Amino acid sequence: MSTILKHIKNIGSWGNYHKIKSQLHFMKSGTLPASVKDKEYISHGNGRSYGDCALHENSLMTIQSNKILSFDIQKGILQCESGALLSDIIVEILPDKWFLPVTPGTKYITVGGAIAADVHGKNHHKNGCFSHHVISLKLALPEGDILNCSKNENAELFRATCGGMGLTGVILEATIQLLPIKSAFIDQYTIQTNNLKETFRAFEENQEASYTVAWIDALAKKANTGKGLLLVGEHAKDNNFEFSFRKKINVPTWFPSFLLNPWSIAVYNKYYYRSYTKTSEKVSLDSFFYPLDAVDNWNRIYGSKGFLQYQVVIPKKNAYQGIMELLDAVVKSNHVSYLTVLKLLGKENENYLSFPLEGYTIAMDFKIKKGVFDFLNQLDKIVVGYEGRGYLAKDARMSKAFFETGYPKLVAFKNIRKQYKLERLQSLQSKRLGL
Ligand SMILES: Cc1cc2nc3c(=O)[nH]c(=O)nc-3n(C[C@H](O)[C@H](O)[C@H](O)COP(=O)(O)OP(=O)(O)OC[C@H]3O[C@@H](n4cnc5c(N)ncnc54)[C@H](O)[C@@H]3O)c2cc1C
Repeated sequence: MSTILKHIKNIGSWGNYHKIKSQLHFMKSGTLPASVKDKEYISHGNGRSYGDCALHENSLMTIQSNKILSFDIQKGILQCESGALLSDIIVEILPDKWFLPVTPGTKYITVGGAIAADVHGKNHHKNGCFSHHVISLKLALPEGDILNCSKNENAELFRATCGGMGLTGVILEATIQLLPIKSAFIDQYTIQTNNLKETFRAFEENQEASYTVAWIDALAKKANTGKGLLLVGEHAKDNNFEFSFRKKINVPTWFPSFLLNPWSIAVYNKYYYRSYTKTSEKVSLDSFFYPLDAVDNWNRIYGSKGFLQYQVVIPKKNAYQGIMELLDAVVKSNHVSYLTVLKLLGKENENYLSFPLEGYTIAMDFKIKKGVFDFLNQLDKIVVGYEGRGYLAKDARMSKAFFETGYPKLVAFKNIRKQYKLERLQSLQSKRLGL
């Protein structure tokens, strides 16, 4: 079989909705493969984005360019290739008492993916996005130039690249400032709430905490709409650095997706809500930051048609009403959010397409079934009414109009694309949204 044919594969994203036959071009140790010359393509990290931002007929696969290039143990400065996974970095840095300053809900993403989506964690209200901790990055432009970018050097390109979904070049390497820690454990505190008012109050009362995140029971209604559990976390200080990632269970390809239904999830939600009888406990970093990583391929439980994650943010002044209206709309519909997470976000940064703005973000997972796309369009209208916006890393279906309303710095982003001749960088998402 010729090498070219061997590297044509069906690839998808975490939501399993979009799939595409794509020619894979592998990046080896920080250099672009010659095979992408003159082609349209998009970078593909570890495919943990939910929608179509990393999908194109030509995929520049970064995962094999994953070396840690240097690690200054005294200063906590790490330099690595962009295909390095956060999980590999954690293994490298934790014994020397450093951790990632910002981490999303899975450790199985690449550094390139973390920068391109400018990911946020449970500490956005304190520590901002991933890009806030990037000292510099090396970017390969389609015509072959390689530029160093930082807040001071090629600053506009840096602002476009962080959150720019791979549309400004291929991130080859990054240098990151890490966070000093005194333990591999988290002191976790859990607060049960009975409705959205209490959930918001719990967030506000704990806004000085390093980490906060709420799980919401999206089946709860009327007086209990928005009830859930707020998890509050601080790095422990016990100097205990014993660490290993938990053993994983796997969801097989043949998992019967009918097991996931409104009744099973109602039982689960009740159990989960009540299971937090302990308000205070010490938990590992792995279980605090990455609970979903304990189940390999959990996305398969939604079946072969896949699922959509709907993540939006609503500015603080409108957040309570906006989130309430979204939750109400879900309860009144025949769609179920199987997993619903709420987070408090801090100030917006200067990047052109970074998602967070000061307010609350809600993420809901919907099975793909008849009517779901129309239903999500209705939710978009609510979000626009409250001046919110959607997250590109989770998006598989938003309209161009909804996207454009939410991102006023889009013009600056498009100017950079023109100025540096970046039109050959395209994904299914960039085409849908006219990026
Ligand atoms: C269980 C789970 C939990 C999550 N939790 C969070 C969360 O809490 N917060 C959050 O912000 N996100 C979260 N995410 C989303 C995830 O962090 C982002 O989608 C991330 O971008 C995925 O990285 P990846 O390496 O898999 O990249 P991919 O999914 O392969 O690509 C994502 C984007 O990055 C671009 N890209 C990748 N590598 C490069 C590169 N080297 N150069 C230029 N562009 C590149 C791609 O073109 C694409 O646009 C979660 C995802 C999952 C599955």
